[in-house]
Amino acid sequence: MRFLAIFLLILFLPGCLGGTKEEKRGDEIVIIYDNRGFGELEGSWGFSALIRFHNYTILFDTGGNGRILLNNMRKLGIDPNEIQYVFLSHIHGDHTGGLWDFLEENSNVTVFLPVSFPENFKENIKARGAKVVAISKPVEILPDVYSTGEMFPVGEQSIILNTSKGIVIITGCSHPGVVRIVERAENITKKKPYLVLGGFHLFGANKTEIKEISKKLKSLGVQRIMPCHCSGDEARKIFAKEFGANYIDCRVGKKIEI
Ligand SMILES: [Zn+2]
Ligand SMILES: [Zn+2]
Repeated sequence: MRFLAIFLLILFLPGCLGGTKEEKRGDEIVIIYDNRGFGELEGSWGFSALIRFHNYTILFDTGGNGRILLNNMRKLGIDPNEIQYVFLSHIHGDHTGGLWDFLEENSNVTVFLPVSFPENFKENIKARGAKVVAISKPVEILPDVYSTGEMFPVGEQSIILNTSKGIVIITGCSHPGVVRIVERAENITKKKPYLVLGGFHLFGANKTEIKEISKKLKSLGVQRIMPCHCSGDEARKIFAKEFGANYIDCRVGKKIEI
């Protein structure tokens, strides 16, 4: 009997200690899906990031491939069931392709998407038991979390987090132009951007154009920058030079405290 007690103690004590020692996770952004992988974290064309902010856990975009999305999540210790909200920037497959496999794991979510998404896309989400909120105008979707509203040509929304350091803006592909997105985010919140990250869609742009964009972002008050996904190597190089220590290198697994 005594052996059993000791055995049970050994079995459960580490768990109990672990439970009390565990710290509350701070606000952070984790890159789950990006063109650039890292070690066993697979890279692939597309974008997805996890946002832990206040008490919300938001999945921003879902990458192009559900298997890669879920594998990277698992390797990063992210449980799909901890996600409460999904925010889809725009309809392109490299941002929405992983959604269906994700919903297989957890359909108890609200999906924020641009109102121009096809009706059958919205119906397919609802058929899996998730809620859909269609966005057209700029709106506060959760306390301190905004959508820029749908911006064209593609019909793309970006997310804005109102943090104590300033606003954090996350873009999918920046088809409307990253400068226009930042300007709109400032107009909505009347705050300066602490950090801008995501796809900037500059892989075809020339050096002069990219330098101008970088300077414009600085003049808008952007402190830190993290070009991901479709930003292109040239843009990475130029932003790294312009922003110095405030440039963040993007790849799968990167975590940024906010
Ligand atoms: Zn993209
Ligand atoms: Zn796109």
